[in-house]
Amino acid sequence: MSAIIRTTGLTKTYGDQKAVDRLDLTVGQGQIYGFLGRNGAGKTTTIRMLLGLIKPTEGQIELFGENLFKHKRNLLRRIGSIVEHSGFYENLTGAENLLINARLMGVHKKTAIQDALEIVSLHQEPKKLVGQYSMGMKQRLGIARAVLHHPELLILDEPTNGLDPIGIKEIRRLIKSLAEERKMTILISSHILPEIEQLADQIGIVHQGRLLEEVSFEELRKRNRKHLEFQVSDDNKAAMLLEKELDIHDYEVRGEGKIRVYSHIGRQAALNRLFVENGIDVSRLTISEDRLEDYFIKLIGGGTIG
Ligand code: ATP
Repeated sequence: MSAIIRTTGLTKTYGDQKAVDRLDLTVGQGQIYGFLGRNGAGKTTTIRMLLGLIKPTEGQIELFGENLFKHKRNLLRRIGSIVEHSGFYENLTGAENLLINARLMGVHKKTAIQDALEIVSLHQEPKKLVGQYSMGMKQRLGIARAVLHHPELLILDEPTNGLDPIGIKEIRRLIKSLAEERKMTILISSHILPEIEQLADQIGIVHQGRLLEEVSFEELRKRNRKHLEFQVSDDNKAAMLLEKELDIHDYEVRGEGKIRVYSHIGRQAALNRLFVENGIDVSRLTISEDRLEDYFIKLIGGGTIG
């Protein structure tokens, strides 16, 4: 999978405060990448750098495999974004607002505005002024503007901020369909874990300007599945016994004598006996089920996300 965004040592300093601190971020093609962190973690500052709105103090940004600072104009054309205020005229309709933006962006295709309104399901109320829009509708109009020029990469800074649960669900559905049907790569920032969990394939967790972890949700779920973990004297032999004697295949050898078994929860005594009877010492056995939320709290050192 080729990287659409790659930052290396990306840093932004304000006075003596590091808003973003040596961030190495990789967003692969076609991914929905959840950029997760508490308020003030450095998400917006990172996004502003990715969009060329502010200059990094240090570090590199590559978009689509090319250096942002060398090819800024061309690269930014391939990106759509929502950052901060929408900046729409309240006394104009959604379509009129988009028309202004389309002209500014050099989008001349006649159907572009109608297409964008349809994507975000705002085409049914053509006469409504933006001043009469709900928050959710305004956010969707923001997304319509961001996709007017059919970007390959969409960068959304907290797109569900201030929305009610239905509004959040609509945005979620919209983001999913842009990724699936239009094959866009999407980076979405949020401080709300469950929201990202339902959407993203990959997450980057940022805290105090630093990237603590970049991992796929698949891997996270696996890590957090309920399991038995044995600390044994010979993990290879233990694995062989599990397969041969009990036909257990849903296990993982974790190194340093740790072996996790994701099935047979409740049958730990039998497994223990199998190991011991075959000459394997078991020095510890734990049964665990980390909730994703606990994991994040552990990661960011006691604070909470959300
Ligand atoms: P939020 O969800 O609250 O927007 P965030 O993760 O987007 O948070 P940033 O807005 O990137 O965080 O801010 C990171 C840190 O950098 C904060 O401590 C913030 O006060 C500081 N910061 C951001 N912009 C500036 C600026 N222009 N001048 C000084 N400090 C700034």
